Amino acid sequence: MIHPLVDRHTHLEGALDPAWVRAEAERRGLALPDPLEALWSGASVPFEGFIEAFLFGAALLDSREAVRAAVGAVAGRTRACGGSGFDLWASPHFLVAHRGQISLDAFWRGLEDGLAEAAAQGVRGCVVVDAVNHFGPKHGHSVLNLVLPELPPFVKGFSTGGLEGTPFRDWAPVFERARSAGLRIAAHAGENGPGSNVREAVLEGGVARIVHGIRADGATLELLAERGISVDICPTSNRALAADVVPHPLPRMLAAGVRCALGTDDPGVAPCDLGTEAAAARAMGLDATALETLRRNGAEDAWCLA
Ligand SMILES: [Zn+2]
Repeated sequence: MIHPLVDRHTHLEGALDPAWVRAEAERRGLALPDPLEALWSGASVPFEGFIEAFLFGAALLDSREAVRAAVGAVAGRTRACGGSGFDLWASPHFLVAHRGQISLDAFWRGLEDGLAEAAAQGVRGCVVVDAVNHFGPKHGHSVLNLVLPELPPFVKGFSTGGLEGTPFRDWAPVFERARSAGLRIAAHAGENGPGSNVREAVLEGGVARIVHGIRADGATLELLAERGISVDICPTSNRALAADVVPHPLPRMLAAGVRCALGTDDPGVAPCDLGTEAAAARAMGLDATALETLRRNGAEDAWCLA
């Protein structure tokens, strides 16, 4: 059986079409930041440069139409690789409350328009609301205060991202509140923070899904396998933001029985798609069976297909 191909982890703000960003910048009379041009050309930049490039794109998402176009970029990139689904992380609190650049209504409608267009082209998407780990649980509650009162049906999950600065035990009440509202819980862990964060996210945060998790040790991999926790692996992003983790642990994670799947993370900043990520996995020495396992996990644990 051939399983549907799913982009298991991509950020709305980090997945913009470079041609669209270039055109929007020109229309608004803005100069593209050097790190963004560098990243587009395949160069690596310091972490601050990556953030500058990411934020430049995020600032352009200030209308329903811009958000619709952003979802269209994700759907188009997925479809061009033969994919049929994507789990899309989005940060409404950052754009609506923190930056004040778009209303929540326009944001939801843009997502709704984009997801409907994608579905009409045979690509199913859902949204995972992302909160910033290092802003702490109080911020987490603010995110929920913003989104829960009129939560659109296409929002399927809640996650933390950003710097892994706050222990997951402190996030547990926020996760519990999101879970009671019917959301599934994920966390970026073991990427810019230590591998022990992966263990804590599972044992103390009770998350069902880990994004990255590449610094997890052997005992934690056993725990992930035992509990059937899904792990989203994004090789291009890992190379850009966690370059010290070599060799990439994906083969070791799969061998330990961890339910890994592939995602693109920020393909509008560090260019990639499901094709490049599969090629990167192959270059790690994974054979056809292992690649099929990645694809099967990608489909079976996808929230957009659930
Ligand atoms: Zn991410």
